[in-house]
Amino acid sequence: MLQIFMKQKHFNIPLFIPELACPFQCIYCNQKKISGRLKVPSAEEINKIVEEHLRTIPEKCSRVELAFFGGNFTGLQLNEQEAFLKLVQRHIKTGRISGIRLSTRPDYINEEVLKLLKRYNVKTIELGAQSMDDGVLKLSKRGHTVRDTETASAMILRAGFSLGLQIMIGLPGDTLEKSVFTAEKIIEIGADNTRIYPALVIKDTKMEKMYKEGKYQPLTLKEAVKWSKKLLLIFEKANVKVIRLGLHPSEGLLSGEELVAGPFHPSFRELVLTEIWNDLLKPLLDSEKSGEIEIHVPPGQLNYAIGYEGRNKKMLLGKYQQVKFCSDQELTGREYKFRLFVSFS
Ligand code: SF4
Repeated sequence: MLQIFMKQKHFNIPLFIPELACPFQCIYCNQKKISGRLKVPSAEEINKIVEEHLRTIPEKCSRVELAFFGGNFTGLQLNEQEAFLKLVQRHIKTGRISGIRLSTRPDYINEEVLKLLKRYNVKTIELGAQSMDDGVLKLSKRGHTVRDTETASAMILRAGFSLGLQIMIGLPGDTLEKSVFTAEKIIEIGADNTRIYPALVIKDTKMEKMYKEGKYQPLTLKEAVKWSKKLLLIFEKANVKVIRLGLHPSEGLLSGEELVAGPFHPSFRELVLTEIWNDLLKPLLDSEKSGEIEIHVPPGQLNYAIGYEGRNKKMLLGKYQQVKFCSDQELTGREYKFRLFVSFS
């Protein structure tokens, strides 16, 4: 019997609930501006968002998750959490949605909450760990400690959820070494996935005030790309999935209206992957021969190998008269092979 297995594509239906149950406004955060949403959506709005998304997602070969983002879901009263979760159960019963993921603070996890989430098909819990350095957490006035993140993570994993730990790089007091330590700690804790966000100075935040008073300096774009590259490679090696690199570009960020300073770029992930390929391709500049070069890369890597705005290709054109990139089904990961055509005059 011939069986054909099709790869499932993953879709998230994001439900942004700005600054839901936040104990205070963190110094870098203005979720309303970052997510572009100003108010908590009503029950009708939530249903509408879900149905609109489902209409655009193919029924076959897709795995759909509902994602409560933007606030601290588990900071709500238990009955309020239950009301939100109940609202979306009918989509799970029909089989269109496979589960729920949500984000929250490390100090908002307890056994009672986890029991409730389990009952309502929550599969993944993401914690805003931000840093695994207590000094950075203190200077950033996060109001929780590294210990809180460790304790909450252990409880989440013990209860059988998938764990996500989000990092913010470049917060007050942060260094590349501290970010690397954070990544290593996240791996050691056993997170399944992570998101890497470079800290930005957003309007109407405490960090805007600090920045204007000269008390805080964000990373440059170059530094943020360099740090993220290092962290991404560490996570990849440990099989921790990096599901986001850089903030989702809301209209306010794209227009620059909400951004005061900091390493925002709408194609941040692409910049980081371009740099990784740049490091891999650089040795080709040392070849004693020149002429034409044809570089074969795995299909999904073609754009990154060529580079954002063709940066890597342009670098190689400094040495070779012609540079051609081809996708090659036989290659995986970031493997590449090349052929040189040397011309004799
Ligand atoms: S970072 Fe999280 S806890 Fe802090 S204000 Fe923003 S949404 Fe609330």
